[in-house]
Amino acid sequence: MHSKSHKPYLPFGDQQTTPWYGKDILSVKQFSHADLEYIFGVAHEMRIMVERIGAFDLLKGKILANLFYEPSTRTSSSFTAAMERLGGSVIPISEVKYSSVAKGESLPDTVRTLECYTDVIVLRHPETGSAALAAKYARKPVINAGDGVGEHPTQALLDTFTIREELGHLDNLTVTMLGDLKYGRTVHSLSRLLTRFSGIKLNYVSPDILRMPRDVMEEVAEKGLPQSEHVGLDEVLPETDVLYVTRVQRERFEDPAVYEKVKEAYIFTPEVMTSAKKEMIVMHPLPRVTEISMEFDDDPRAAYFRQMEYGLYVRMALLAIVLGKA
Ligand code: ASP
Repeated sequence: MHSKSHKPYLPFGDQQTTPWYGKDILSVKQFSHADLEYIFGVAHEMRIMVERIGAFDLLKGKILANLFYEPSTRTSSSFTAAMERLGGSVIPISEVKYSSVAKGESLPDTVRTLECYTDVIVLRHPETGSAALAAKYARKPVINAGDGVGEHPTQALLDTFTIREELGHLDNLTVTMLGDLKYGRTVHSLSRLLTRFSGIKLNYVSPDILRMPRDVMEEVAEKGLPQSEHVGLDEVLPETDVLYVTRVQRERFEDPAVYEKVKEAYIFTPEVMTSAKKEMIVMHPLPRVTEISMEFDDDPRAAYFRQMEYGLYVRMALLAIVLGKA
């Protein structure tokens, strides 16, 4: 992970010897297989603790700045819930138009301000690379909660944790990603992270103009994973263990007419699923628009609501880890 060792930040009482202490979480590229096993272990313990006692004081007195320049429901509220269930508190800044950002304050100055009051900063921003920029200026850990079309590392961690908790393992799986693979940052992070496991096969199903970016595919190819691109879901659904559906990212299109043409390229219904395995899962980072019909929600293979809950445990684990308490 990105090291901040050159920047002194040693509050009294933290376990400064833990390897993740004070580190940023900017990209899934930072995580080895062993790191993932460690995070999943901590997240699993968080799950047990929440189920048993709801909340506990591991991060008592710690403060999180939740800085969101783009809309969010799940990421921002799950980080808030994670911090509060661990006994810490949160400064939420989601209406940046009411903060000094509206006066023209730069991102580096905003994070340098917030770190005076808090212990960790969660940042969502429309520009790729913004989290890395913020981390360069902040002495406290910065967690990337989505940087434009770049990455969404905490989502990929919760996605892989979901697969592990639901299917029991992360090896020897066929994962099919469907929808907007060009602008969907979650699939960029997820396909990179899946290279840490063995026997994974990746299928990408998208309209031609929304194909997976070449640089992501090249990175995956370097790690030796088989990948194939398709226009139709039918040919790959029967072999799929994890179907990862994404929303067409309207806000990233320069031309609204182009969005209109592809927005309903795939609509996923219970009928489509007749050729799928009985033991497989359907995931979605949410929000969904029209790409999964609500009629499918009651199917036990629909894992997208459970996926959100796993996100709470993973974000609790990440906060505890970077604050030296895990
Ligand atoms: N919530 C996810 C994200 O922030 C997916 C989406 O918006 O479609 O990237």
